[in-house]
Amino acid sequence: MKRELKKLAGELAAYIRTVDEDTYMPPVTGNQLPVTSNQSQVASYQLPVTSNQLPVASRRPPGDGAEMAALIEEMKQCRKCLLGNSRLNAVFGVGNTAAKVVFVGEGPGFDEDHRGEPFVGRSGALLDKILDTVLGLKRSDVYIANIVKCHPMVNPENPEARGNDRPPTPEEISACRPYLDKQLSFIKPKCIVTLGSVATRVLLGVTQGISLARGKWYDYPVELFGPGHPIKVLPTYHPAALLRNPNLKRDTWEDMKMLKAFIEK
Ligand code: SF4
Repeated sequence: MKRELKKLAGELAAYIRTVDEDTYMPPVTGNQLPVTSNQSQVASYQLPVTSNQLPVASRRPPGDGAEMAALIEEMKQCRKCLLGNSRLNAVFGVGNTAAKVVFVGEGPGFDEDHRGEPFVGRSGALLDKILDTVLGLKRSDVYIANIVKCHPMVNPENPEARGNDRPPTPEEISACRPYLDKQLSFIKPKCIVTLGSVATRVLLGVTQGISLARGKWYDYPVELFGPGHPIKVLPTYHPAALLRNPNLKRDTWEDMKMLKAFIEK
């Protein structure tokens, strides 16, 4: 009976995620912007640098990789939130640490947890295809990461179950967010692409669903590289949403063409 209930809970969570991609909005946390309905305000708002971020002057380029390696080791040992107790692998990120563009998703799922790499499985294959066909890039040309580094599970006692995914909680996002900002500060990308509503909401604080937020450039509201060096952010659909609804591909292709024009100029 208990096992059946857990299975049902997993299936229900998976179903909710299929219908909720456009509307899911995790509550704003202390690391995010105040909610505002004025998008231009959101685009220009600059959060003050906090103690969660590295001092700008202390950053070295990613060339020697020592700081990034130390961060990876720290993350592998991390238990700052409960996800650290149930993960199989902490999933840091993958790709070129000098990339012009960083793609950011929500968090690892079953396949990512098992393989220790973000965006593998069907969503990852589609992301690779988009990179190749629209941007002429390989996975190794860009950097790919997530908001949280460990797999949020409906039933954390069963990491071997598929359909056990859930969105990260505000507390988990808050605990993990410094890793992403440190990653970004080492990579120093020209722009970030947020994949889906959760990543967009967390990084930009926009209140709209992804269908309204996508296809526009924003300024990343955390000052990582000092005044006058904003990172641009382009929200688009999560590849999983395209798998569920192929009609979204047209808009995604348009977004990727905007990205291509930006990184090539
Ligand atoms: S999700 Fe992030 S903060 Fe939580 S345990 Fe994993 S690495 Fe640490």
